[in-house]
Amino acid sequence: MAYLQLQGIEKYFGEHRAIKGVDLTIEQGEFIVFVGPSGCGKSTLLRLIAGLEHIDGGSLILDGNDITHLPSSKRDLAMVFQSYALYPHMSVYENMSFALKLAKVDKAVIREKVERAADILNLTPYLERTPKELSGGQRQRVAIGRSIVRSPKVFLFDEPLSNLDAALRGQTRVEIAKLHRELGATTIYVTHDQVEAMTLADRVVVLRDGQIEQVGTPLELYDNPANQFVAQFIGTPQMNVVPLDQLPPVITQQAPAQAVGGAIGLRPESVSVLAAGEAALKGKVELVEALGAETLIYVNTEGGAQIVARQNDRTPLHAGEAVSLNMATDEAHWFDSQGRVVASTIAA
Ligand code: ATP
Repeated sequence: MAYLQLQGIEKYFGEHRAIKGVDLTIEQGEFIVFVGPSGCGKSTLLRLIAGLEHIDGGSLILDGNDITHLPSSKRDLAMVFQSYALYPHMSVYENMSFALKLAKVDKAVIREKVERAADILNLTPYLERTPKELSGGQRQRVAIGRSIVRSPKVFLFDEPLSNLDAALRGQTRVEIAKLHRELGATTIYVTHDQVEAMTLADRVVVLRDGQIEQVGTPLELYDNPANQFVAQFIGTPQMNVVPLDQLPPVITQQAPAQAVGGAIGLRPESVSVLAAGEAALKGKVELVEALGAETLIYVNTEGGAQIVARQNDRTPLHAGEAVSLNMATDEAHWFDSQGRVVASTIAA
């Protein structure tokens, strides 16, 4: 049975319908990531689950209980925010134990829980420090620890890493993944960073304009996006989506009938750059990004499209050079004029 169930969830801010009838089923122990562009409603949906906003329609069921209108404090959920919101005058130990102390939990039990959480989060040496004596990453771990000690039914994370620098983000991301493996706690995590989404999630929920566009495992979304929006939202650099009228017949002839008037989508690794004249699609190199392990080559085609190719080898090419492009149409996604996938060549 589903652990957390969202049924037709609605939210209005005045006249603005911010969440438009969201249905979602989450199993116990799953790590779910909400992604989507700014303003799509990720944080609002999380806040509705947390009980920090009033749900205007639909229902929310947790572990068999209807919690739609239950106050936040009674929902048995714990939320970790982008801003750590630690008490500055309290030590790490006091910050982590505060909620349990308020709940009048036995002191020895509190100690045991805090010490266990500190151990998992590598915070044991810092228990007597105050937040200002910690790095950003350590503070975020204290915020996570504060949630762990409460043993909530669901952990809710709202962009918890966005205040950290790139290196620390990567490191903390790995720690969160490890933590999830150890605790097996049901988790919902909001981010606009699709690398976080791809690396942490059991399933990713892609939102746009208050609605779910697609739900799937990271690789399902990468390999079989339902539409152009998901196709271009997941993956860096973005999938190349080129209108068929900008391409030579040798490619467009392969398009399925429903894609007429539509476009072809190819991941950068499905495009290869050849010498001028070797393939029918002609272009000029616009930019080369040599990243070490991989090279990204941006090419402007004669038809007016910009296409990026990813290769593992380095390249002697420079901006301005004439090239041709081979598109691996056996790896193509074909879109109709509405941006819906009509055919994907990659097996599910
Ligand atoms: P971001 O990635 O920028 O944080 P988001 O996907 O989390 O975006 P939300 O913060 O959930 O987006 O906002 C969804 C929509 O609801 C936006 O159009 C936003 O302007 C609107 N909104 C959010 N909170 C309120 C509020 N308290 N009052 C009015 N409108 C709001």
